[in-house]
Amino acid sequence: VAFAVLGLCPEILSSLSTAGYTEPTPVQQKAIPAALAGRDLLVSSPTGSGKTAAFMLPAIQRFAQLQKEGAPVASAAVAAPAERSRERRGGAGRNSRQQPTAYPALLVLTPTRELATQVTTAATTYGKHLRNLRTVSILGGVPYPQQLMLLAKQPEIIVATPGRLLDHLERGRINLSKLTMLVLDEADRMLDMGFIDDIETIVAATPASRQTLLFSATIDNRISHLTKSLLKTPERIEI
Ligand code: AMP
Repeated sequence: VAFAVLGLCPEILSSLSTAGYTEPTPVQQKAIPAALAGRDLLVSSPTGSGKTAAFMLPAIQRFAQLQKEGAPVASAAVAAPAERSRERRGGAGRNSRQQPTAYPALLVLTPTRELATQVTTAATTYGKHLRNLRTVSILGGVPYPQQLMLLAKQPEIIVATPGRLLDHLERGRINLSKLTMLVLDEADRMLDMGFIDDIETIVAATPASRQTLLFSATIDNRISHLTKSLLKTPERIEI
């Protein structure tokens, strides 16, 4: 099987060949076409199976497609004036007048800072031939001024740990109303770490029309429960 038959665009195929990937791994073979078709996915697949590319490649491609079709994805320019006038009336919480709100099209939640950093690097590698695709990571423990500079770039993709993402959401620095895809990476570990309430609050701020991909090493009762509330008739993929 070649990557080309999975339906990926030439720009992405080119970055994969530069990265030295010749063949998709089993999880990539199953997840990429299903995600490109717009399906929600429930994927159980261990670390090292190539799961990052299994969600990042279709995510980047769907974003690039929307951009080509001229849809206003992650368009801060459209939303910012309304934000600003609300701030003048004093209604935008703790957001300052100088800091624009980021409106990402894609959000990836990961349990740890290390994983978020790896996913961000992968997104940059796979998307390097696509224009206007800015990816930033928003991690706990990083000083706020540094993160506000990243958010001011109006990234299309945000890779984040749940606690800090929620923090920016509550402060009005990030708005998820334009989100088209949500990825939960290593969902079982996020639940182990007690992030369930944060995840539910974050999801509640996203549009119901979003596409959702949930990856987990194991599928237990907690994951099944989460799946029922977050995914729409998901395709289940087990590796
Ligand atoms: P992951 O399971 O996403 O952590 O990926 C494990 C490692 O495999 C990473 O170093 C990836 O860069 C690499 N990788 C992912 N997919 C492929 C592929 N199709 N061919 C070669 N290497 C890959």
